[in-house]
Amino acid sequence: MDVRIAIETTFDNGEKRTHQLDSISRPYRVTCPDGIGLRLEDGKKIAEQFQRVILYDQVEEITRESRVCPDCASVRAIHDYRTRVLDTTFGRVRVEAARLRRCSCDVKSAAMPGGPISPLAYFFPDRATPELQRFHAELGSRHSFREAARLMKSFLPCHPPHHATVRARLGRIAERLECSRRASSSPAEVTPKGGLTVFLDGAHIRCRPEYQQRHLDLVVGKIESRNICRRFGMVVNATASPRRRMREELSAFEWKPGRLLTVISDGEAALPNLIRNATNGDGPVKHILDWWHFSMRVQHVEAAVQGLVQTQRFAGNPVLFQRPAKSLRWWLWHGRARVAETYLKGLMHDCASFAEEPQAVRAAAARVQARCETLYTYLANNMESLVDYGRRYRSGLPISSSRAESSVDDIANARMGKRRRMRWSLKGAHRVAVTRAAVLDGRLTVTNSKRAA
Ligand SMILES: [Zn+2]
Repeated sequence: MDVRIAIETTFDNGEKRTHQLDSISRPYRVTCPDGIGLRLEDGKKIAEQFQRVILYDQVEEITRESRVCPDCASVRAIHDYRTRVLDTTFGRVRVEAARLRRCSCDVKSAAMPGGPISPLAYFFPDRATPELQRFHAELGSRHSFREAARLMKSFLPCHPPHHATVRARLGRIAERLECSRRASSSPAEVTPKGGLTVFLDGAHIRCRPEYQQRHLDLVVGKIESRNICRRFGMVVNATASPRRRMREELSAFEWKPGRLLTVISDGEAALPNLIRNATNGDGPVKHILDWWHFSMRVQHVEAAVQGLVQTQRFAGNPVLFQRPAKSLRWWLWHGRARVAETYLKGLMHDCASFAEEPQAVRAAAARVQARCETLYTYLANNMESLVDYGRRYRSGLPISSSRAESSVDDIANARMGKRRRMRWSLKGAHRVAVTRAAVLDGRLTVTNSKRAA
């Protein structure tokens, strides 16, 4: 059989035109399993022809309509034709774009005799359709630039992109995302109710050799209010003012001066300080230490105590050691860090009394002492950030930064992890992080282009 494909265009002025596309031939006698239905190659060929036909007609209509001067309704003369190469998702199309002379009624041209005007320049500012640019950015943020270029080449009839093109377009989209965030952070009158929670974590990614350091730090996080969330990623050193950038990120999420910000992160002071600097004292910032980070340290103490009481020739009373180690966790969970500190001191004191015991017992006691000291220092450094975790947990509030850690996996490790053996520049890593966060949030999906239509 033979399949014939024809397209009929009806212009806005009622004119109709029919175009004939390539036909698909499927002779019955030579049909093989590979020849059943529409194949990818056929689809790509047809889509490319389809695109060309639509684009030619559209360019013709745009040129015809824009020849009429919007002010005096006289017809503007055609100055010349220029060849324009337009990159679209369905192929690269070469069109003859007309340039028009300015109308005599144009007062601006009297004062400033401008050149001819190009009506197409408005529709294709970057010589590529916005959809194609978003495609490049999305695939480039999910795969390596070379892989993204390969994927596009396999599945789309678009002009095979070079990996540097993918990188450049991703960079442009990332910049545009940051500009749009700046625009959206205009102050509104109404402050939404309730606080915001910011989960923060850091990630290390490999750095390019010219920076003379092994890793660069990526700050990844998630901002949440009652029913919506937004991810973000940034390389602090790549931005001139991380403080301003963070503030924009918060403002884009309806943070207003005076609104409570709860920051949950591990013990690294730089992360909550980033938020404190961003708010610049315009609102309360409460830092909460991630529960699991010091819960692990408590577990180390418990394990060391267990090791001590099970040591052969251990002469003390096991309950004297096991009970404080057990209750340590309980006190911390209920926000009684001072009591926990007293227990820790007691444990350390008791362990010091094993000086005369056999070698194995002394070693085990020293281990308990070291673990206790680590936990003690950790608590002392973060005393301000400890809260009543039990109460928060029972009221359904978050107590751990695990949501930020999942963002680290999604944003940093999946694309820029150490296992991928890629080295990054500060700017490159920052752009990919910004785009990837937008892609994961669905702020940059290709389907979002419906809004543009
Ligand atoms: Zn005019």
